Amino acid sequence: MGLEAVVLEADEPGGQLRRVQNPIADYPGWPDISARDLIRRLVEHAERLGVRLVAGIGPVRVETAERRVSTPVGIWEADAVLLATGARDRRLGIPGEDAMLARGEDWSASRDSHRFRNLPVVVIGGGDRALEGAWRLAEAGAKVTLLHRRTAFRAALLWQRRALNHPGVTVLAPAVATAIEGAEKTEAVRVRGADGVERRIPAAAVLVRIGTEPNLEGVEGPLERDAFGVLAVDRWGRTSLPGIYAAGDVCTPPPYTSVVSAVADGMRAVKAAALDLAGARS
Ligand SMILES: Cc1cc2nc3c(=O)[nH]c(=O)nc-3n(C[C@H](O)[C@H](O)[C@H](O)COP(=O)(O)OP(=O)(O)OC[C@H]3O[C@@H](n4cnc5c(N)ncnc54)[C@H](O)[C@@H]3O)c2cc1C
Repeated sequence: MGLEAVVLEADEPGGQLRRVQNPIADYPGWPDISARDLIRRLVEHAERLGVRLVAGIGPVRVETAERRVSTPVGIWEADAVLLATGARDRRLGIPGEDAMLARGEDWSASRDSHRFRNLPVVVIGGGDRALEGAWRLAEAGAKVTLLHRRTAFRAALLWQRRALNHPGVTVLAPAVATAIEGAEKTEAVRVRGADGVERRIPAAAVLVRIGTEPNLEGVEGPLERDAFGVLAVDRWGRTSLPGIYAAGDVCTPPPYTSVVSAVADGMRAVKAAALDLAGARS
């Protein structure tokens, strides 16, 4: 597009893909590509196109009104800034949750399922990751309780069919977790049902899969958000401030986040930026 671009990344390249253990089934053209392979290909492709990648520099600070980005290795004053800062797991915010994560009990249903054979595990949530996780754990022999605050599930029908019909999965819905108990390790979850009665469910592990929230620390300025709390953008990725664009999970409501939509958003936003800079705004 004739633009001079730099990608500034706090960590190693890859974002959430670095946490994906299973083959990626839904990236068009590369069925079941591994996340590691996809990251490598995306980085190589960008470099081949002359995009400079500056990674491992810690979180950058973006002054949106000035389109200025400050990092430990320099300050960039840009004509256009594309925010692709992604999202992180949403927390329940209940007693015991921080302590559980601080003990390192941040389990992956794929990587760690072998640890929980014949043990009780509570999975919380109603989307793809909750139901896929419940199914994977049950397949590995865990006794799974799936806790959801509503009776309807948002997960894809495939995961609903697999998880909800699995003999190793017990569904508790509508119900909310009120505390995670255990001093040295997780022992139980306190749960309140629709009748208001609280009960204690033994659990060797708790997987909280209740969606994501956008990473916007360090992004200064009055950017509008939508009803989901993600950045509000027009169809082409323009935020509420001129010259500031967004792509991917930072501007995508949780049920719709995916690698392919992040990639497509990025393409649209870069085209919009190029057209805007050329004064050919659509
Ligand atoms: C376990 C798991 C499994 C998944 N499985 C699939 C799947 O099978 N198929 C699928 O399509 N999707 C899957 N996803 C979702 C997919 O990974 C995301 O939708 C996608 O990675 C979003 O890309 P993104 O670029 O918007 O954000 P992210 O991947 O979140 O990347 C954002 C990047 O921005 C960086 N960053 C954030 N803030 C700053 C800052 N202030 N300064 C500098 N850098 C910053 C972060 O370090 C990160 O590298 C999965 C996600 C997880 C966690």
